[in-house]
Amino acid sequence: EGVYKVAVIGSGNWGSVATKIIASNTIKQSVFHDDVRMWVFEETLPTGEKLSETINKNHENCKYLPGIYLGSNVVADPDLENTVKDADMLVFVTPHLYIKGICKRLAGKIKPEAKAISLIKGMEVKKEGSCMISKLITEVLGINCCVLMGANIANEIAEEKLSEATIGYREDQEVANRWLQLFATPYFLVSIVEDIEGVELCGTLKNVVALAAGLVDGLEMGHNTKAAIMRIGFKEMRAFSQLLFPSVKDSTFFESCGVADLIATCFGGRNRKVAEAFARNRGKRSFNELEEGVLQGQKLQGVLTAQELFEVLIDRGWEDQFPFFITVHKICTMQFPPRSILQCSSSVHNST
Ligand code: NAD
Ligand code: 13P
Repeated sequence: EGVYKVAVIGSGNWGSVATKIIASNTIKQSVFHDDVRMWVFEETLPTGEKLSETINKNHENCKYLPGIYLGSNVVADPDLENTVKDADMLVFVTPHLYIKGICKRLAGKIKPEAKAISLIKGMEVKKEGSCMISKLITEVLGINCCVLMGANIANEIAEEKLSEATIGYREDQEVANRWLQLFATPYFLVSIVEDIEGVELCGTLKNVVALAAGLVDGLEMGHNTKAAIMRIGFKEMRAFSQLLFPSVKDSTFFESCGVADLIATCFGGRNRKVAEAFARNRGKRSFNELEEGVLQGQKLQGVLTAQELFEVLIDRGWEDQFPFFITVHKICTMQFPPRSILQCSSSVHNST
């Protein structure tokens, strides 16, 4: 039996794929305990069975990742406290909306020397101080937290198609290396970068740009317009990240978590897909309604992130510098029509 026990908090689409990757590594590397415990937000399936029970019986998450074998060493557990109590390595991968409540439930219930990593793309808005999820985890649980972001459309990685990812860490490179060892496979190529805020902000902000890309698709404006929108969005991603954290490095935007994730999500992601449907409905059906119909239980991160971003921009008096982010939020909340995304391309953003 190995040294480090791993628990995954979350079992949605990416949560299930991340668990599959991890389970394939823990079984091969003696430094890790074979079993991977995965917390399942319990639900009853139309068959009357509990989701966690079917995962343990069939080694497959039939709701969020149908048709993919997770590994016989994955143990689904509907009890959050029990999932984490013996764990040395905690992987957080839930929609960002739920993470604060989860952390509060876990405070005082985990090993004090445990380490965490967040795969969550989103932020938490506070009037003062930081609003990153990794910081929230560190503050509430009192443990080190790295992040892993990248061009990682879960269903493609589930089929073991090649992709890259970026781990962001602060100071402790040894811990980052241990996470790399847990995640890296021949089809999942992971690199590490000492810029945790840059990596996490890339993963978070690109969801807002992906909404804009989906709007352009729904408006049938073609590839050039979509590329223009992506370029403008990318510039605001960098400008916002470096205003919030001056330490954020330009080079981070050229890692998988940056430009690669932006491209993948703007072409193949769920935010793009729902925004396209929104624009096709001329903004008459809300994102909430469309999310339920199109994603069937999976969750969008971009709409809430656009709202949170809007609050930060207003709070800091930065709204004039980010017309693109402001416009995406106003479209999502139906204050502006979908077509107004096209006006961002001609205004403030020319050459700087
Ligand atoms: P998902 O959107 O597929 O699934 C939603 C999950 O939320 C389900 O596991 C559901 O059981 C759970 N849930 C519903 N209500 C809940 C509640 N009240 N409390 C706690 N959990 C609840 O999830 P996902 O794709 O694993 O996404 C998790 C994170 O990973 C997000 O931040 C997302 O941006 C990120 N991510 C996703 C992908 C992808 O391709 N799916 C890729 C990279 C990163
Ligand atoms: P969506 O949530 O838009 O599907 O993006 C997935 C993702 O983050 C790919 O890296």
